[in-house]
Amino acid sequence: MDEIVDIAVVGGGPAGFTAAIYGARADRSVLILEGPMPGGQLTLTTEIDNFPGFPKGIQGNELMSNMREQAKRFGAESKFETVTHVDLNTQPFVITTQDDTTYKAKTIILATGARARTLNIPSEKTYWGKGISACATCDGFFFKGKEVLVVGGGDVAMEEASYLTQFATKVTILNRSENFRASPVMFDKAKANPKIKILTNKVVDEFLGDEKALTGVRLKDVKTNETSELITQGVFLAIGHIPNTEFVQEYFKTDHGYLTTVDTKLPLPGVFAAGDVQDKVFRQAVTSAGAGCMAAIHAQRFLEQKEHEERSS
Ligand code: NDP
Repeated sequence: MDEIVDIAVVGGGPAGFTAAIYGARADRSVLILEGPMPGGQLTLTTEIDNFPGFPKGIQGNELMSNMREQAKRFGAESKFETVTHVDLNTQPFVITTQDDTTYKAKTIILATGARARTLNIPSEKTYWGKGISACATCDGFFFKGKEVLVVGGGDVAMEEASYLTQFATKVTILNRSENFRASPVMFDKAKANPKIKILTNKVVDEFLGDEKALTGVRLKDVKTNETSELITQGVFLAIGHIPNTEFVQEYFKTDHGYLTTVDTKLPLPGVFAAGDVQDKVFRQAVTSAGAGCMAAIHAQRFLEQKEHEERSS
């Protein structure tokens, strides 16, 4: 592609689309490369009740398609392509996607988000979607009247477990130690729920079933190495997230994979990051959108400064 876009946005979640809206509205050419999960993590959720402006809530998919439409209204172009490589040592930057297409851009906003961490046990792949999930709000409904297991001891695990008690007859939380990362208030709430049972010092050793559906798990005690079996039809993994930064790690130091930014600025001029890819604390749609706005304003200022320098040289 010979055309050089002003702003390339990598990632199509709330951060990416908000950046695109602001960039395009500032009359810049904007290309959004949405990646493997168009719409981002919000497309895995159902109702979103805490995004301002929707007093009755809004479905995740609908919110994201609204954002895409809004970005397009101002002229942003969106493509369902996955970026595999970026060359940030050259100006314009060169972006390569999965099918070896290249794009050139004067600035880049990295908004690739994060993905749920998995246990990496071979049987996990067999039963993914057949009993294993990483999203209670998406899949909890399917476990009405069943017994489920939530793996993890952080706030997400507590939140998912409490949510699942609406459907499941029993929810077991499995933590690999006696120490819970969850905040005391969320831990106490889960502990007080009569449908929730907590197991500590145990990990999932194997997922069990008939290949078509999960029927249980083999657990291993981390202190004694003893194994035991637990009957369960559903396992929800809540063991954290991995930021999607592999393709830029050669350029930036990361903190547990997260890009370290100052007001969305990265140490390379013209490169910015917004959303879950640089935020391990808040991880909300609205904070991601806010960061996308900041990144686009910085990109616009960077372009203006460059144009000013070019005119005066
Ligand atoms: P956390 O990093 O807080 O917790 C991850 C949990 O998963 C820990 O218990 C960890 O155990 C466990 N874990 C990690 N890897 C494995 C593994 N391979 N096998 C077994 N267990 C594993 O992540 P969360 O996703 O829960 O939360 C992320 C952030 O979002 C936090 O800052 C949290 O506070 C925030 N949040 C806030 C909410 C709120 O305030 N309403 C709601 C939800 C999230 P170990 O401790 O042993 O490492």
